Amino acid sequence: CLPDPQARAWVEIDPLALAHNTQAICQHLGAQTELLAVIKADAYGHGAVAVAQVVLAHGATWLGVATLEEAMQLRRAGISAPILLLGGVNTAAQVQALLYWRVEPTLATWEQLRLFEQVAHTEGAILPVHLDVDTGMSRLGVPWREAILVVKALHNSPGLGLASIYSHLATADDPDPWLVHLQQQRFSQVLQEVQHLGIPCPKVHLANSAGMLLDKHLHYDMVRVGLALYGYSPAVHLEGILPLRPVLQVRARITQIKDIAPGTGVSYGHRFIAERPMRLATVGIGYADGVPRGLSNRMTGLVLGQRVAQVGTITMDQLMLDVTAVPQAQVGQVVTLIGCEGNHQITAQDWAQDLDTITWEILCGFKHRLPRVWC
Ligand code: PLP
Repeated sequence: CLPDPQARAWVEIDPLALAHNTQAICQHLGAQTELLAVIKADAYGHGAVAVAQVVLAHGATWLGVATLEEAMQLRRAGISAPILLLGGVNTAAQVQALLYWRVEPTLATWEQLRLFEQVAHTEGAILPVHLDVDTGMSRLGVPWREAILVVKALHNSPGLGLASIYSHLATADDPDPWLVHLQQQRFSQVLQEVQHLGIPCPKVHLANSAGMLLDKHLHYDMVRVGLALYGYSPAVHLEGILPLRPVLQVRARITQIKDIAPGTGVSYGHRFIAERPMRLATVGIGYADGVPRGLSNRMTGLVLGQRVAQVGTITMDQLMLDVTAVPQAQVGQVVTLIGCEGNHQITAQDWAQDLDTITWEILCGFKHRLPRVWC
């Protein structure tokens, strides 16, 4: 792995870990269940095009994105796998673009049904749509009690094809699965009604990473997995079910070393005061790169295989590490903020726990000014 020798900081992506996670997930699924890789938000910060190529080569058959632009980026890069647009589409121009780029939309409202019909009619096309049934998430989706009416309308619409019926779990990562069961009951009721009417539905899907790990009865024809692909479990009680490996590392270089005397304040607001003589390493990465300022004085870094404390307020482009115990540290040395060195590991989940947030937010937070290096 050879990052630009000039680079001050970068994100390393391990394609072997990504391939491993994809295969581990596929092996966990029954032979009838497909894997839709959720690669919205630039594949949770990992780089959508490259991630798509790896996951498709190792067992994923569908891709899921949030926006039309994300889908177009994949098509422009030559990716031909089916793409499900999980987000909303509300204008005729967007629907025309969906047809042009062969991207399959989510249908979540009556207004969308009419819009999709209209555009399909004027374009003389058939648009495959994926019906999102709101069984308890209260975000996108047709309320579950109304879903059968939408299915009937879809069935009678010559320009639209029902490609799948799906729903999204709100609490699959919660140790108490009562809402998962309730959502699944509501979902089953809709599916039974559809079956009763004899309306064919090619695909049914419900599970995200947590649902996929929680219970095989949630797998149906396809699972929509994001976080687990990137090597993280969505909850502590779901850890160890699959041997997942974090895909992303964050590294940066030391740009200055300095010795400070006891009583010296460090960084904005002097929120750290040295109590002893210290050696500090200034590192070229900061909150504008995606290292949350809230981790100031709380995170650690790995330098030459040793874990060291971060001290002082994290600034926009730089932070300081206490390298007193690592006298060999020097300018240009690469340090690890997320990843492994020696016997130590720091994960995005560690950061999330410290900040009382979720791993998803940490991964999506790494900015584009950090080059993604595949190695
Ligand atoms: N399905 C839908 C509709 C989603 O919005 C998401 C992500 O937020 C996923 C699946 C994947 O979720 P996860 O990253 O927890 O696997």
